[in-house]
Order: sequence, then structure tokens, then C-alpha cells
Amino acid sequence: MIRPEQERFWSHVVKGPESNDCWFWTGAISDDGYGRFWIQRNGGQQAVRPQRYAHELATGEPLPPSMLLLHSCDIPICVHASAYLESSHVAPGTHRENMLDRAQRGRYRDRQTLRLGELPRQVRVQRSLDLRTVILDHGWQPELISAALLGVEITHPRLF
Ligand SMILES: [Zn+2]
Repeated sequence: MIRPEQERFWSHVVKGPESNDCWFWTGAISDDGYGRFWIQRNGGQQAVRPQRYAHELATGEPLPPSMLLLHSCDIPICVHASAYLESSHVAPGTHRENMLDRAQRGRYRDRQTLRLGELPRQVRVQRSLDLRTVILDHGWQPELISAALLGVEITHPRLF
């Protein structure tokens, strides 16, 4: 029962070609701009956060409900989790300092500092939806992904 669930989970994820790229969730998106994944537990349906689900899969450790999971890439629908903090895009709140240090060391300097998580909710939701649309329609296209993240209007679909 668990394996089909994991297959269903990964069928909604599009990974970038580089090891440090984001893995974008393309399933349901909540009204806060973060993803939502439905699972069967204890005889009922339950919605979980895709990034938390991915983190638990990667680490094999259940995450206490009270524990925040933070994105180093600051993209709410990224689910790039790893058991190794160095390569993970999400980490429990207790590792916040490490993640801030890493960001300041400039590992992500090639990436725009987007702070999507700090945008007003409606804007954040729209960015997540736009990003998902771009990925589903065009696959992994860095220029289109950047435009969606920056909120740049890309309304000329016939050009692609
Ligand atoms: Zn990411």
C-alpha cells in the first residue's frame, strides 16, 4: 500500500537536471501557495505537505507536527529533500542557522533571491500556480521557470 502511494507522489514531481536543482511539486496547491498531497491513513484521507512527505521519505524519520520545515531555495512547491543537509532544499527549523549561513556563503548566488515565502499570500499562491503551469506545459525550461518565479507575464504561448 505504501509503494503505490510513493509512486503516485513522485508522479507529481518534476526534477531539474542538475543535482542542486529544485524538484517541483505539480500536484494540488493549497490556498497558501504550498502543495497538498492526499494519503490514506488510519482508515481515512489525510492531506500532507509534499515537502514534509519528501523529507520523511528521504530521512526515514517522522517529522513532529510542531516542527517547521524550511526551504533554503525559498520556493514553496520545491520538494527536494535529502538525508544530507548539504544537498537538501528543506530542513527542520532547528537547522535554520545552518541554512542561513549557507545562503550567505553564496552557494545560491547564481539563483535570484526570491523570498517567495515572504510574499503576500495571494501573490505567493499565484506564483506557485504559474510555476506549476509552466512545468506541466513545457517541462523543465529554466527561462520560463525564472519568469514564473519573478511574476513576469509570459502570455505569448504561441511563441514556444
Ligand atoms: Zn528547491
